[in-house]
Amino acid sequence: MIPRTDRLLALPAVRAAAAAMSERVVRGVVRAVQDEARSGRLAPEEVEARVLAALGSRTPSSLRPVLNATGVIVHTNLGRAPLSEAARRALADAAGYADVEFDLGSGTRSRRGAGARAALLAACPEAEDALVVNNGAAALLLAVTVLAAGREVVLSRGEMIEIGAGFRLPDLIASTGARVREVGTTNRTHPDDYADALGADTGCVLKIHASNYRISGFTSEVPVAALRALCDERGTPLVADLGSGLLCPDPVLPEEPDLAGALRDGADLVIASGDKLLGGPQAGLLLGRAEAIARCARHPLARALRADKLALAALEATLTGPEAPVPAALHADPDVLRERTARVAAALGAEVVAHDGRVGGGGGAEVPLPGWAVSLPEDLAAPLRAGTPAVVATVRDGACLVDLRCIPEQDEQALVDAVRSARTTVR
Ligand SMILES: *Cc1c(COP(=O)(O)O)cnc(C)c1O
Repeated sequence: MIPRTDRLLALPAVRAAAAAMSERVVRGVVRAVQDEARSGRLAPEEVEARVLAALGSRTPSSLRPVLNATGVIVHTNLGRAPLSEAARRALADAAGYADVEFDLGSGTRSRRGAGARAALLAACPEAEDALVVNNGAAALLLAVTVLAAGREVVLSRGEMIEIGAGFRLPDLIASTGARVREVGTTNRTHPDDYADALGADTGCVLKIHASNYRISGFTSEVPVAALRALCDERGTPLVADLGSGLLCPDPVLPEEPDLAGALRDGADLVIASGDKLLGGPQAGLLLGRAEAIARCARHPLARALRADKLALAALEATLTGPEAPVPAALHADPDVLRERTARVAAALGAEVVAHDGRVGGGGGAEVPLPGWAVSLPEDLAAPLRAGTPAVVATVRDGACLVDLRCIPEQDEQALVDAVRSARTTVR
């Protein structure tokens, strides 16, 4: 006979599991196993064990931790930036009640996210003020709405980019009620193209860093400093969307623009994501002139786009803590990577092959980061993804390539164990 619900719910192990999940979820699991038994797919005497196994394997969220063995540092499909230990601690501290908009000294309301703002200004002294919103797209939406709704945004044709999954920045701009005034051509845009377009109807000039592709060959674009001169003549605000979130120049990515540099060159506002090269939580950063930031902060949309306390806490901790995993992976010493890769390969009886890492979403398009990978048989890729922890590697030319660039040293043993366990499923 199939065990009844109340008997199953009374089992101590089921009661223990029920403490960590809602009763509705526990009952759902029990019912699904009973249904299996009713349909004859499961013997009645196996119901109890199956319920316990099903409850035991449930995690609080369906998001599963992944070891990123792709060598792609900012992997949008894998959650972009892994947070630093400091940021993880800050997240946990902010998870309960926290003084996100409260001054504990006076017992009154305070400015939301003051700590994250101060950390941004300390990290980028070129900015007079800063505002943190939900993500990069939100920051762009807010800036364009404030400066150009009902008017024109002057933008080079070569910078009209799609940022992924069909999201196109010109569509985002148009959704604010601003009109995109396209200037120049796909490969070349000149100062005169901008000068001809600027007029009474101009809301702002927008410079977008084409972070995910490169045009090479017969090309030219107008740098921020030259746009500043033009905008000064006409009294036009200048916004630079840099995407990547590099605070200062990085020698590994010589062509990647940085926030401080764009502000020094004269942008009124610069925009970046928090979870790209900065290596923090999902966030949109607006930095620049005090007056422009104040207008953004005052706009009703700012409330709809604001960052939550968890992101504010993690962002501040990323900015004030030791080097986060993203910059660490970017700056990984190739000799150390080689040593680590050889160690893992030896443990697995596998070969080391050359394998370039990539920055991934939001910067350094096409820049190879020299490194290595453990070469495994291609048929291990699927069981590796299905394991715990899941391991996502690159399948290329009949091999499954495991790159250690984005795998912390303390996870090496878990990686070796995951490969061993995946091997048992294919043999
Ligand atoms: C990534 C990117 C965005 C969007 O930022 P999200 O944080 O993903 O919303 C906007 N502009 C540029 C240039 C980008 O690279």
